[in-house]
Amino acid sequence: MGSLPENFDSSVMDAPHPLDPEDFRKQAHIMVDFIADYYQDVEKLPVRSEVEPGYLRHRLPDSAPYNPEPLENILEDVKSHIVPGITHWMSPNYFAYFPSSGSTAGFLGEMLSTGFNVVGFNWLSSPAATELESIVIDWIGKMLCLPKSFLFSGGGGGVLQGTTCEAILCTLAAARDRKLKKIGGDKIGQLVVYASDQTHCALQKAAQIAGIRPENFRAVPTTKSCNFGLSPAALRRAMEEDVAAGLVPLYACATIGTTSSTAVDPLEGLGRVTRDFGVWLHVDAAYAGSACICPEFRHFLDGVELADSYSMNAHKWFFTNLDCCCLWVKNPDALVQSLSTNPEYLRNKATESKMVVDYKDWQIALSRRFRALKLWMVLRSYGVSNLRNFLRSHVRMAKQFEGLVNADPRFEIVVPRTFAMVCFRLAPPTGSRWETDNGEELNKALLEAVNSTGLAYMTHAVVGGVYMIRFAAGGTLTEERHISAAWRLLQEQADALLGTCETKEVQALWEGW
Ligand SMILES: *Cc1c(COP(=O)(O)O)cnc(C)c1O
Repeated sequence: MGSLPENFDSSVMDAPHPLDPEDFRKQAHIMVDFIADYYQDVEKLPVRSEVEPGYLRHRLPDSAPYNPEPLENILEDVKSHIVPGITHWMSPNYFAYFPSSGSTAGFLGEMLSTGFNVVGFNWLSSPAATELESIVIDWIGKMLCLPKSFLFSGGGGGVLQGTTCEAILCTLAAARDRKLKKIGGDKIGQLVVYASDQTHCALQKAAQIAGIRPENFRAVPTTKSCNFGLSPAALRRAMEEDVAAGLVPLYACATIGTTSSTAVDPLEGLGRVTRDFGVWLHVDAAYAGSACICPEFRHFLDGVELADSYSMNAHKWFFTNLDCCCLWVKNPDALVQSLSTNPEYLRNKATESKMVVDYKDWQIALSRRFRALKLWMVLRSYGVSNLRNFLRSHVRMAKQFEGLVNADPRFEIVVPRTFAMVCFRLAPPTGSRWETDNGEELNKALLEAVNSTGLAYMTHAVVGGVYMIRFAAGGTLTEERHISAAWRLLQEQADALLGTCETKEVQALWEGW
């Protein structure tokens, strides 16, 4: 390894063509079979990878191969070295974080987009990439019954970003520059950003990058009595105090479906506050936004007409493979003014005609993928009716799980379920040593016991000082039997844990059940 082999010339002669169509056909078929087998077998694999940090360095050579290697050999190594280091997000037994719900249509769309491999930074660089994106984003906007002002047809518009983090950063930059234009560019130190203590850390990262002073980031506390939603009155108070102190309220982020507990911030009340203070309101519906295509969930978006921007991750719970975040804005000019550049080498007639969208001015990067193909494939292959059915089936599974938790008196629901995630814990038995830290050690131990079996994977959050387990249903391959198996596993592990509980009275208590 490392030095030139003696047969240097002949190895170059034998080199495969990097894109021979017949070779591509053969190898791509092999790969599709490999992936189909993976989907077939993924439920048998340990969900959470159990490898140790650095495991792969010991298994792979320490420099790249000089000579070409056949696909079969590479796939063998994928099986023996890569798969063990994968946490299987596509497993039907995956209930951690939020799902990453890929689908056949999402996969095929991704495949097509990778096949065309276009770099659609402006309209001219690939007109279909831009135009399809504007069309599908309007389609989804209509499915969500977003106000017309968010649609291209109503003077607003949307864009596909990679992630919510980027969507939040872009809108924050737009809001910042619009405000600074009004109050003077030297006032950036006075700008204040608002959220709740449940808001995703994406906002804090965006504020750091956008040059908001760390001390001007307000994480307004939430309480259990408001189900951990952001209180409009508390937001108003925070803004009043800042104005009185000579600061300038800039941007607030409301969340539909917070990451810890899927809390919903009340948009109507918050929108009235932000309007009164001239603050940009962004709605982050990364996970739960998808559910709002079902009429029974749409009411969570009431008040979105008062927002300036709205985003949702199609790669979370909308059957679209990573990455794909939909962002709508009422005032695309604000985004463009903040993010556009116009170098000579990109000048063209279409841009100058102002008849086209150049998406490079709606995002951070220049280069951009043809993500719209994935969404278009998903929307057309399943239709609104099936997408609603898929979402509802996950909500139904979560409800079933919630019912199981409620039926076992050792467990309790910590925060009421809203979508397809159940927040629960094993209640620390009265008088037991588990009570001293309010059940934290107990539930940590339960979670680790469950996850280390490899049969299911769940994660935790702490809300209102309570350590709880999050059970997020929504894997594309998950069926009811996986839900009941996960519940049985939890019960077994709880039996084992509480069996070690030394307190006599507690033992008696359990026996009573
Ligand atoms: C997942 C999530 C995010 C982060 O999404 P990325 O696409 O990874 O940036 C932001 N907000 C909420 C509410 C989320 O659930």
